[in-house]
Amino acid sequence: MDYGMISAAYIAASILFILSLGGLSNQESARRGNLFGIAGMTLAIVATIAGSTPISLALVLMVMATGGAAGSVLASRVEMTAMPQLVAILHSFVGLAAVLVGFGSYLEAGTQFSGAEKVVHQIEIYLGVLIGALTFSGSIAAFGKLQGILSSKPLMIPGRHIINILIGLACIWFGVEFVNAGSVSDGMTPLLIMTGLALIFGLHMVLAIGGADMPVVISMLNSYSGWAAAATGFMLANDLLIVTGALVGSSGAILSFIMCRAMNRRFISVILGGFGTSASSSSAPTIEGEAVPISSSETAQLLSSAKSAVIVPGYGMAVAHAQQAVSELVNKLRDSDVEVRFAIHPVAGRMPGHMNVLLAEARVSYDIVLEMDEINDDLPETDVVLVIGANDIVNPAAQEVPDSPIAGMPVLEVWKSKTCIVLKRSMATGYAGVDNPLFYRENTRMLFGDAKDSINAVLTEL
Ligand code: NDP
Repeated sequence: MDYGMISAAYIAASILFILSLGGLSNQESARRGNLFGIAGMTLAIVATIAGSTPISLALVLMVMATGGAAGSVLASRVEMTAMPQLVAILHSFVGLAAVLVGFGSYLEAGTQFSGAEKVVHQIEIYLGVLIGALTFSGSIAAFGKLQGILSSKPLMIPGRHIINILIGLACIWFGVEFVNAGSVSDGMTPLLIMTGLALIFGLHMVLAIGGADMPVVISMLNSYSGWAAAATGFMLANDLLIVTGALVGSSGAILSFIMCRAMNRRFISVILGGFGTSASSSSAPTIEGEAVPISSSETAQLLSSAKSAVIVPGYGMAVAHAQQAVSELVNKLRDSDVEVRFAIHPVAGRMPGHMNVLLAEARVSYDIVLEMDEINDDLPETDVVLVIGANDIVNPAAQEVPDSPIAGMPVLEVWKSKTCIVLKRSMATGYAGVDNPLFYRENTRMLFGDAKDSINAVLTEL
């Protein structure tokens, strides 16, 4: 394929990626957005293979088939609740690819460039390996936290900011050494040392961030993986990879900003870490009152006599696979003239948009799915709020306990409704590990059990 054709294919693929991002910004156009993305990627792969002269086409196709098969099996088997972990692992692959391409490119470029061109290429390699290495180890740490292998509490090493600054300064110093190195073997030592430092930095940065701030970490690593891909594009002189990486990098950065705003956090505070530490026992308020259980038949009675109901889904709804049963419940209540709406917190579940995806899967009508800001003011007039497997996002401690790890995070004010029914299996805390005074409020009732079983039991009673 000649150069002009490849450039045209790359431009078309870039446009398809932009249309894909545009489509994904709205639930109703998300499917179309995905199709644009698939079309863009297919075009990009075909044009890249046609435009290059790989050592062995058979080898490229074999590697692609193996990777494609592994990806398909993983994607078809993964539970919706494990999606964030899968995304974290995929981000780590992008980081690792940038590191490997960087080393490969450095070994290969030894004889290719000279003068200013060589310096520019070396800076590209150095930055690509740096971003790639910290994306790789940061994503592995995020995977461990999301999978529950590592604690969700922030790791507070004494003097951690100084350690980070020293690592940053060392990376700059080794960067100068790398660019000034006379030969590939001389440059390899600073490159390897910086890779090790960047791996430690990525790990340390994510481990220092507390459970409640993990949504920002996910979107931040998403952004880093985009910049790592863009850096790989520079190293390989591939325009499409640069554009695609920049698209992912900037959209991830915008998402991080949105997540910070949703959680009322400053981005820099999240990066510096430390949030999500449990309040010390001396300052933690003792929660007074008693949690009052409710049965499924009493819940059914309350719902059928209500004029308005709001459903707050959380991570537990995903764990219980309760979305279909919830959708059925909503249809039944709406048939009996109960006004039912959903209230979606921006960080509900374990990934941005988690609840919207589940509700779309259960074919819940989009017009009754409202964002937190749209519905919070209506909660005092709501007869019944059903909190289904949510915890941190409805925790009044965020407003009432100044030294709570989630202090300042906007929450759904479900306790202001006339009756609030919480569906969960026990009195356990949520992801942030913070006790929830909501469960002990006078107007709160606890419907204990698996959310899907509980909703099915309520449906039977209705
Ligand atoms: P939480 O993790 O706060 O609470 C989920 C609740 O679901 C638990 O208290 C659990 O209680 C209950 N639960 C679990 N399984 C079931 C089941 N089968 N049936 C019924 N209940 C169940 O979830 P939220 O959605 O309220 O909040 C999200 C949290 O995750 C926030 O802290 C957020 O910062 C964090 N986070 C969000 C990300 C995002 O991008 N959205 C990414 C990473 C973290 P019990 O065990 O008693 O049943």
